[in-house]
Amino acid sequence: MGSRTGRIYALARKAAKAATMAMLIASVPAFAQQTAPRDPVEPPQAKPEPKILPRPAGAIARQSIDEKSMRALIHNLVSCGTRLTLSSWTDPKRGIGCGRDAIVARLNEMAKDSGGKLQVVVDKFESTSERTSGTPIPLENVYAILPGNDPKLSKTLFIVSGHFDSRPSDVMDPTADAPGADDDGSGTAVSVECARLLSRMGCNGPCVDARAAGRAYRATILFATVSGEEQGLLGSTHLVDWVKQQGYTVGGMLDDDIVGADLAAGGPHRVRLFSGNGELDDADSPSRELARAIEEIDGRSAIRMIFRQDRYGRGGDHYPFYKAGLPAVRFTEPLEDYNHQHQTPRTENGIEYGDYEKYLNFRFLGNVARDNAEALRQLAMAPAPPANARLRGAVMPDGKVSWSAEDDADRAGFEILWRETTDPRWHAYQFVAEPGEAVLKGVSTDNHFFAVRSVGKNGARSLAVPTEMERTGPPLPTPPKQ
Ligand SMILES: [Zn+2]
Repeated sequence: MGSRTGRIYALARKAAKAATMAMLIASVPAFAQQTAPRDPVEPPQAKPEPKILPRPAGAIARQSIDEKSMRALIHNLVSCGTRLTLSSWTDPKRGIGCGRDAIVARLNEMAKDSGGKLQVVVDKFESTSERTSGTPIPLENVYAILPGNDPKLSKTLFIVSGHFDSRPSDVMDPTADAPGADDDGSGTAVSVECARLLSRMGCNGPCVDARAAGRAYRATILFATVSGEEQGLLGSTHLVDWVKQQGYTVGGMLDDDIVGADLAAGGPHRVRLFSGNGELDDADSPSRELARAIEEIDGRSAIRMIFRQDRYGRGGDHYPFYKAGLPAVRFTEPLEDYNHQHQTPRTENGIEYGDYEKYLNFRFLGNVARDNAEALRQLAMAPAPPANARLRGAVMPDGKVSWSAEDDADRAGFEILWRETTDPRWHAYQFVAEPGEAVLKGVSTDNHFFAVRSVGKNGARSLAVPTEMERTGPPLPTPPKQ
C-alpha cells in the first residue's frame, strides 16, 4: 500500500470512527449522560496495552457440519423404540443396547477414517439408585478418544458428552415407547459429530512441519455418550471415576442435553450455556471460567451464558463433575417444550406429547455441534492453566498478582485479566512473558476481580484462573468465657 493510499484509508477510518461516535452519543438517553460514571481512573496513568495474540486460525466452518449424518444417527436411535437404561442391552432391535450399537457403528466408521487416531471404548459397569429399585443394574458408556500429542498435556482431558438413554413418562417402565430424539439423541449426535470433525482436522501423533505442530491438539479429547442419565446421572457419575482411574485430569466437560430444537420464531437463536457459581467467596467456579472461555471462543452471537448450574427442577450429566470441583457446563436449547420431554407418546385433548424427530431443527443442532467442536479444538490446543494464582496488596496502592507455571516451550506467556466486580466477562489487562509476580501500579485490589491465563504461541488460551485473595477479617469482639 502506497503512503498516499495509506493516508486516505486512515482519513476514511477516522471519519467512520467519528460518525460511529456521533451515533453512539446520539443514542445514549439523556439520564444516562447525566449519570455517566465518575470514578477515579485506575491506574491513574495510562493502562498498559496488552499484547493480544490472535486466536488460532483454522476454525471449524459451519458448512463442514454433517447435518445429514447427525439426522441419520438420531433416526437410528429413535428406531430403537425405547432406550430406557432398564430396557434390554442385548436385543438388537429394541432397547438401549440397540442405541449403543448405532453409536458404536458410527464411531467405528470414523475411527477407520481417522487412520487409527480415534479409539472407541465400550465401558461396562454397574450402578444403583432409587430409579433402579435399589438393585445394581448393568450399564454401558461409549467413548471415542482422540489422544493429545503433548507428553504432559495429553493426561488432561476435554470431554464432550450426551446421554443416549431416554425415558417415557414413567421412568421405571422399560416397555413404553421413548423416542428421545431431543433428550438426548441431539446431544449424542453433537458428541459424535465432534468426534468426526476433530479426528479429521488438526494434527495428532507426530507433526512434521512447524505450522502443523501449532495446530495439534496437545490435550486429549474424549467424545462420550453415556447411559443412566434418567436413572440418576449414573453414567456420568461413573465417568468421573473412570477418568481418575485412567490417570487423567479434567480440563473441561461440555454436557449437551436437549440441544436439538429451536421453537420460537426468528431463529436460529443462541444456545444456552449453564454454569454453576461454585462455593468460593469472591471468586468464580472453574465451571464459570469454562463458560466464559466457550463464549469467548464461539462469540456472543452464538452463546447465551446463564450463570446458574442448571434449569430449576432439572439436572444433567455435568453435575457430578461440577460437584467434584471440575470445570463442567451444560448446553441446552433456547426454549424448551415440556410436552416433548419425558413424555410417553400420545395425544390428549388435541395435544401431542412425545420427543419426536419432527420437532428438531437441524440448522440449530448443527450450530451447536460447531460451537462445541470449535471450543474443544481451541481448548485442546492451549497450554496448561497457571497454578497458585494469588492477589496481594490489601491496603496498599498497588495490586500484586502472582502465579506459577511449569516450563512450556509452546507457551507465549500469560494474560492478567480483570473485570469490574459486576461485569460478567474478563478483559485483558496486561501480557507477561514469564511466571512470577506482576505489580499493577496504581490498581486497587478492591475494585476488580483478577485472573491469570496461559497463552500459547498458537494463540490458544487456557481457562482463566481467578486469583485467590489475601484475606484478613475485621477485628471482632472476644466471645464471653463459658
Ligand atoms: Zn436429558
